[in-house]
Amino acid sequence: MKAIALVPGTKDVKLIDWPEPKIEGATDVKARVLQVGICGTDREEASGGRADAPKGEKELIIGHEMLAEVVEVGAQVKSLKPKDLVVIMVRRGCEECDPCKRGHPDMCKTGLYTERGIKERHGYHSEYVVDEEKYCIKVPKELRNIAVLTEPTTVVEKAIDYACRLQVARLPVDPDPKKWLEGRLVLVAGLGPIGLLAAMVLRLRGARVLGLDIVDSHSARPKLLEAMGGKYVLGKDEAIQNARKTFGQIDMVIEAAGIPRLDFELIDVLGLSGVYVLTGVPGDDRPLNIDGGKIMRQLVLRNQIIFGSVNAGFEHFKQAVVDLEAAEAKWKGVVEKFITARIPYQKFDEVLFKKAPEEIKAVIKWHD
Ligand SMILES: [Zn+2]
Ligand SMILES: [Zn+2]
Repeated sequence: MKAIALVPGTKDVKLIDWPEPKIEGATDVKARVLQVGICGTDREEASGGRADAPKGEKELIIGHEMLAEVVEVGAQVKSLKPKDLVVIMVRRGCEECDPCKRGHPDMCKTGLYTERGIKERHGYHSEYVVDEEKYCIKVPKELRNIAVLTEPTTVVEKAIDYACRLQVARLPVDPDPKKWLEGRLVLVAGLGPIGLLAAMVLRLRGARVLGLDIVDSHSARPKLLEAMGGKYVLGKDEAIQNARKTFGQIDMVIEAAGIPRLDFELIDVLGLSGVYVLTGVPGDDRPLNIDGGKIMRQLVLRNQIIFGSVNAGFEHFKQAVVDLEAAEAKWKGVVEKFITARIPYQKFDEVLFKKAPEEIKAVIKWHD
């Protein structure tokens, strides 16, 4: 079968012939890959950045945001059958630390976890894949066009859930974290796929959403945000400086821009007792002048929390599927427009090495 592989640390990315994986264990599931999304992580890997081949091997098959159709299942598989749609999780635990032993490799404490398509485990850019049932999330057939967005949605599910859990743990409010967002004002910084998916989840939970970006207000991202009931804020310096005055108490900031200067500026717009989640991974290591004393003073005097969030566990994958389904029911056809390019795998280099200005999410097609 065909697969897209790279030699980690180089820009050597190729379509290769690779042995088709087989069902080996009774709990294995074999699936035909339909689509695999491309994100900043894949592009970083393809430009010689962070990626590790499996131990003892030279190449890594890339790809981690996938959707596939089951073709065969092992004798003990109960929840899946041929023709079911599945999304397979990315991270596998180290089995040494407590979070991994308890099924939460997304919170691994040793850093010895592996990740399909990223770290020491082959990914999903191939015609077929095999994995264990416990890493497969069944997806309703109606979501065939958008379920490739499940993995990026899990990232925002975890970030938002943990932010809400922190808030209900410390504020005198209803203890249900899903209710904490009702009527609250949230600023989402950066309207790429993560920012738009965050806006989607936040709107489903009843939050009022401000989406900050620097694109023209008539372009696709602001329009998609508005279609879900969010409000676009053009990210000029004055808009950020005046945000507290213009919009009032901002209860949560979801950062999905990965721009350090902006990320620090946004600390200032966060309201009293607010929570700020960072999800962007900056590629920019240039030094930055910040007023550390002012930021520390503010965090203390305004009772604020800032934390980072990456990856996601099984329940956030489940929740992502539930929310994609709810979003499709509520704003029919809107989420599908987050996918701005669907490219056959033979032409992967058209989207892996470059990003079109109008791109929100590019997807590689392996099978129809
Ligand atoms: Zn990704
Ligand atoms: Zn671990």
